[in-house]
Amino acid sequence: MSIGAESTHENFARVAPPASTGIKIAIVGAGLWPLCGHPTALNLHNYLGELVRVQPTIQPLFGAYSYNGHRADIHKVLFEHAISLGVDIRMSTEVAEYWEDDSEGKAGIILSGGERIEADLVVAADGIRSPARKYVLGYSDKPKPSGYAVYRAWFDAAEQGVDKDPMTSYMCKDGDVFHGWIGQDVHMLTSSSHGGKTISWVITHKDDTELQDIWSFPGKMEDVLEVVKGWDPRCAAMLSKAPSCIDWKLIVHDPLPTWISKSARVILIGDAAHPFLPTSVQGASQAIEDGVTLAVVLQLAGKGQVTLAVKAWENLRYQRVRKSQLMGEAVRDKWHRVKPGDRGEDLDMPRPEWLFGFDAEAHAYSSYEDTAKEIAENGYRLPTLPPS
Ligand SMILES: Cc1cc2nc3c(=O)[nH]c(=O)nc-3n(C[C@H](O)[C@H](O)[C@H](O)COP(=O)(O)OP(=O)(O)OC[C@H]3O[C@@H](n4cnc5c(N)ncnc54)[C@H](O)[C@@H]3O)c2cc1C
Repeated sequence: MSIGAESTHENFARVAPPASTGIKIAIVGAGLWPLCGHPTALNLHNYLGELVRVQPTIQPLFGAYSYNGHRADIHKVLFEHAISLGVDIRMSTEVAEYWEDDSEGKAGIILSGGERIEADLVVAADGIRSPARKYVLGYSDKPKPSGYAVYRAWFDAAEQGVDKDPMTSYMCKDGDVFHGWIGQDVHMLTSSSHGGKTISWVITHKDDTELQDIWSFPGKMEDVLEVVKGWDPRCAAMLSKAPSCIDWKLIVHDPLPTWISKSARVILIGDAAHPFLPTSVQGASQAIEDGVTLAVVLQLAGKGQVTLAVKAWENLRYQRVRKSQLMGEAVRDKWHRVKPGDRGEDLDMPRPEWLFGFDAEAHAYSSYEDTAKEIAENGYRLPTLPPS
């Protein structure tokens, strides 16, 4: 994930000064840096193992640092910070229903145990299989298979002998490193973190099976290895080190017409609103930008103008999110159609300034007033897709 252009990368937690609205916002980076991998380049190979591009990892890029780590580590930092702010977090608690009452200016949820919770705004961050999506849209938006699935794993290098095998030890010798292999309909990425002590890999492969209710299964190593049959033997060597892996279907949704309910008191955020392909490397980043932007607009609008704030929020976010989704599709297609002689910068994972040099917090502060004024004066029009 990338966090705003003004971020201090090693240790910061910024809390905006309390505004007259009484809503406080906090942007968190504290503690993330040591948990993340810090490779200096992406070393990209074709399926035969020829190095076709070394893409330097520039830090900071356009003034922003990237934080790439295990999601559990990142969750822990965010979780502990939220607890320190006094946020009421309930684990293993299922939301069964959403509701809103226009006349009262309230919304809320009903938990599966029956408890009813009331709020000014419900922010449904319930992921790609979002139950809130149906409530917000008023219909079921069926997910579509992307035609691909990923096998993914994360494990300790020494425990699995990565450092002993000459076919894989390059992952551990020189701090954190990042390698990729690209070929027809497949790409594999593997990186080390914690100074070469922890390994993760992900391998995307064709998957035309029908969508079922469950999209994530334990992967079978013989199936994983079949995908790289005839490939650079370093791929099989690394893949087979994993003690287990997950087979995760990549599903997509057409862009939703809106992320806001009829009365603008229940909203979708993150993957619930806009799932991403992993090749965009942006799903969590855009979810965090959603949150930062939302925090700012609510702070500026105050409790009396929550519905205006969320309309401005959708307006500020919609086209940017779509553009970054499309970037992920373009990378996948480029890598999966690589030809034998292809080399060089054209194969890069794009890191454009519009995406990486963007400070969601500053943008929300500078854009809210005009956006809200336009909506208040001329009414709200649903967002449109960016020009293709
Ligand atoms: C293989 C892979 C690699 C990826 N790599 C990257 C990357 O490098 N960079 C990046 O930025 N993104 C990456 N992503 C995307 C990223 O993981 C997602 O975009 C991100 O997790 C979305 O966060 P979210 O909070 O919106 O949803 P989620 O992380 O899916 O969280 C949703 C939560 O809601 C809970 N929930 C659902 N329904 C209910 C209910 N009824 N009641 C209570 N709770 C409920 C779920 O249990 C879950 O905990 C990757 C994704 C995949 C699959």
